[in-house]
Amino acid sequence: MKLLTTRSKVVSDKKMTFLERIYIPAILKGMYITIRHFFGKKATISYPEQKREFSQVYRGQHVLKRDDQGRERCTACGLCAVACPAEAITMIAAERKPGEEHLYREEKYAAVYEINMLRCIFCGDCEEACPKDAIFLTDRIVASDYKRKPFIYGKDILVEPVDPDKRIDISARQTESVLKFKQDKRFAHNK
Ligand code: SF4
Ligand code: SF4
Repeated sequence: MKLLTTRSKVVSDKKMTFLERIYIPAILKGMYITIRHFFGKKATISYPEQKREFSQVYRGQHVLKRDDQGRERCTACGLCAVACPAEAITMIAAERKPGEEHLYREEKYAAVYEINMLRCIFCGDCEEACPKDAIFLTDRIVASDYKRKPFIYGKDILVEPVDPDKRIDISARQTESVLKFKQDKRFAHNK
């Protein structure tokens, strides 16, 4: 049988030597490893004071975008939910009423739109499936919490602010290669 790693050891019940029985060499060896790591380069950083440089195409917290006039772009078509492999997206559609044209761009909109961030695997399929350029993943980190409920993100968190100065910038992730990939007809999501 082919071994998966070279780290496995055959367990034997041979009698321990005198040095093994007094444990001191083993303790010293353990202390040496601890001290070596203590003064070595740290693997962790003091977030949020320190931040690592992310990949340009890092996929973080979603945003539901508005158009230039501040109207919600999402038309509750459900394609993002269908494309989601983690079944993390749910929504309830509603019909736009007369007088609401300044709020919603399409005749149908998402009255409720939720993403379960504990299920989400940040694959970006929802972004690729969206025909309205409504949902994007951003370079923002999803905040941690001790409870499950706060991880159900509703429209209050997902929809970007109306104020043009407070809109969520998505340009960092939309690199030339990402845009090219989104339009490449060889891939099913672009057909
Ligand atoms: S990023 Fe992937 S897993 Fe997360 S909501 Fe979108 S499609 Fe679902
Ligand atoms: S975010 Fe896009 S794909 Fe999802 S329901 Fe809204 S318009 Fe459809």
